[in-house]
Parts: sequence; structure tokens; C-alpha cells
Amino acid sequence: MTDAAAVRSLTKELLAAHPPATTDRTDFLKARFDAGLAWVHYPVGLGGLGAPRSLQAVVDAELAAAGAPDNDPRRIGIGLGMAAPTILRFGTDEQKQRLLRPLWVGEEVWCQLFSEPGAGSDLAALGTRAVRDGDTWVVDGQKVWTSSAHVARWAILIARTDPTLPKHQGITYFVCDMTDPGVEVRPLRQITGEAEFNEVFLTGVRIPDSRRLGAVGEGWKVAQTTLMNERVSIGGSRIPREGGMIGPVARTWRERPGLRTHDLHQRLLDLWVEAEVARLAGERLRQQLVAGQPGPEGSGMKLAFARLNQEISGLEVELRGEEGLLYDDWTMRRPELVDFTGRDAGYRYLRSKGNSIEGGTSEVLLNIVAERVLGLPSEPRSDKDIAWKDLAR
Ligand SMILES: Cc1cc2nc3c(=O)[nH]c(=O)nc-3n(C[C@H](O)[C@H](O)[C@H](O)COP(=O)(O)OP(=O)(O)OC[C@H]3O[C@@H](n4cnc5c(N)ncnc54)[C@H](O)[C@@H]3O)c2cc1C
Repeated sequence: MTDAAAVRSLTKELLAAHPPATTDRTDFLKARFDAGLAWVHYPVGLGGLGAPRSLQAVVDAELAAAGAPDNDPRRIGIGLGMAAPTILRFGTDEQKQRLLRPLWVGEEVWCQLFSEPGAGSDLAALGTRAVRDGDTWVVDGQKVWTSSAHVARWAILIARTDPTLPKHQGITYFVCDMTDPGVEVRPLRQITGEAEFNEVFLTGVRIPDSRRLGAVGEGWKVAQTTLMNERVSIGGSRIPREGGMIGPVARTWRERPGLRTHDLHQRLLDLWVEAEVARLAGERLRQQLVAGQPGPEGSGMKLAFARLNQEISGLEVELRGEEGLLYDDWTMRRPELVDFTGRDAGYRYLRSKGNSIEGGTSEVLLNIVAERVLGLPSEPRSDKDIAWKDLAR
């Protein structure tokens, strides 16, 4: 049986065989994956030990104490948080063997080709077509808001394979090689001045059938696994007390007493308490995750995260007065990752606007919570039995 003692002993063996101080970073990460210490709840041979997820904290603490490198999870968030759980659940053995190791190590970055100009909240309305041609699928269409497409090797892609079926039924899920001919990535500049996301044009892209995830026509079901995990990975990451957005505001408050007013004090206290409640709720959500796939609770968590980030970053800008409006760099940058830490208040304020849109808008998440957590009546869905090709567009 794998328990904390067994996991600790395996971690010590890894450290002895590959001392972090003298081992190349990537070699260390590969060795960690092969030792089953990457994500202990994954199966043996795929970076895990088939052990309870809660034991990951034991491994992480031992490795951090020994100064071992990590796989920079923020840089590869879409791969770790969304593609990997979907591949694990729906992939073939061959797909799992080929894709999961370089994904976890960070050698191959992933992006998500879901949203389209006419299909965001109503994702099932998507129009990108995949037409079968022998052992391959020929894909044509346009995707949009694709974070990290400019650095990605692989994409998770959903496309319409049968337009004669109602919109949720004729969709199939693929893994798309972003280096294949016919894939064109163009930057989209955001309110922050940066272009962390893109529009992606797919023209006659040939995807082998061996890179289909799940059955033909079952893509909507497969995508639900991705989307549920996406909400947890956006809103539910582990942070220490006063981590996240509340940290810089609280620091400014302590260091700059001249900026304080009674009203700002009250608002800061309210937001500090809310941030702490959200952090502890996130801990609880992670404990639930130990028992299986995330459910609609992840939507509630992501809702709270978006609202708090926007209110806290707004307070920070107010607190700093004119200085809060300064912004370090308006030139077009193409960052590899989104990182609030080390950036100025203006960046945090502007970037957090996207939090209530990415990974499902707050309005749509409220609908999910209303229907699936509170049991309220569902929205009228008049188009669910009509063939996609006959829908008004
Ligand atoms: C920073 C960022 C990164 C992103 N990264 C990716 C990515 O990597 N890959 C990807 O595929 N997509 C990505 N997206 C896209 C994101 O998932 C979509 O923007 C989002 O799902 C909303 O879709 P939309 O933009 O088409 O807006 P729409 O769906 O057109 O919504 C417009 C407005 O109508 C409201 N609305 C729509 N339907 C309802 C309803 N039923 N009830 C109540 N209100 C409703 C919405 O809440 C919103 O306010 C990203 C977005 C952002 C902002």
C-alpha cells in the first residue's frame, strides 16, 4: 500500500539518485515523472503511483525542502489543468504514453482551441468542421481567444463532425499538432497592451484519426471534463494566506500609512476577509477533488475568484492614487504566461477584467450554480433538438 512513509522514501531515493544541485533541470523532472512522483494519483507508468491525491503534498514538501526544481506549473497551466485530465480519462494507451510525460515536464506547451467568433458561452454552436478522409480528418475553421497558441506544440480541439445532428451531438474532440501545415496563429492585443492570446485559423489541417480523443460524436461529453477542470485550475489554485491579489494591497496599506482613509480601511478589511474565505473554500474544493472529478463547485469557486480579483485590484488602484494609474509597459509583448506577481497595480487592474470572461463568463457560471447546485429551473433551450445545420446564425 502506498502511504505517506512510502512516498517519502521514494522521494528520498529520487533525490539521492538525481541530486538537484548537480542534475540538469529537465533530466530531474523526467526522473521525477518516471519515479511516479509527478502527480501521485495518476497511474503507474504515467507519472504517478495510483496513490491518493492528498499524498502529493508530501512529495512537494520534501522536494521543495531539498531545493529541487518544479515544472513551472503557471507556464503549462492549460496542459496540466485541462489537457492532462482529459487525456487520462478519454485517451488511448498510446496517446497517454506519447503525450503526458512531455506535457508534465513542460517540454511541450498546450493550448485550447474551443472558442470561436460565434461560439463562446454557447460553445456547442461551434462551426469548425472536421471531415473524415480515410484515416485522417480534414479540419477547416477559425478559433479565437486562444491563450498561449504562439508557444504551443499541441492543442485540444473540438470540431463539428456531423452538422445534421443537434448541436451538442455532432462534435468530436481531437489533439491538434500546432506545427502542422494549415495552422496559422495571429496575435490579439488585449486591454493590458499585451497579446497573451490569439486567433487561430485552421485551413485543410490533417489530423490523423489516432489523435481523436473519445468516440466520434462524443466530443461534447469529453469537453465537459476539460471545462470542469478548467474552472478549478483558474479559480482554485493553492495560495498562502495573503497570497494572490490581496497580498500587494495589504503590503501597500502597511508600508504607506499616508494613503489611508477610514473608507478604504473598511473596504480593505471586508475584502481581506472575503479573500481568506475564498482561499479556505479553495482548500475544501481540493479535498473534494481527492475523491474524484470536479463538479459545479468549481464554477462557484471561479465566480468568487473573478469578482474578488476585480474588486481588490480596483481598491489597490484607488489606494495608490495617481501612482496607481502608472503602467510599466504598453508595448506589444507576447508573454508565455499570465502572472500577476511582480507586475504593477495598473496591470493587475486591467488583466483582472478578463477573469470574469475566461473559462466561462460569470453570468454563465451563475446559471450553472443556479441549475446544478441550487436545483433551480433550467434556462429554456429551444434549439437542443434541431440539427445544427438548421440553426439560425
Ligand atoms: C483572457 C482570456 C483568455 C481566454 N483563453 C481562451 C483559450 O485559451 N481558449 C479558448 O477556447 N477560449 C479562451 N477564451 C474565451 C472565453 O472562453 C470566452 O470569451 C467566453 O467563453 C465568452 O465567450 P464570448 O467571448 O464569445 O462571449 P459571449 O458568449 O458572446 O457573451 C457575451 C455576453 O453575454 C453573456 N451571456 C452569454 N450567454 C448567456 C446566458 N446564457 N445567460 C446570461 N448571460 C449570457 C455573457 O456573460 C457575456 O457577458 C479566453 C477569454 C479570455 C478573456
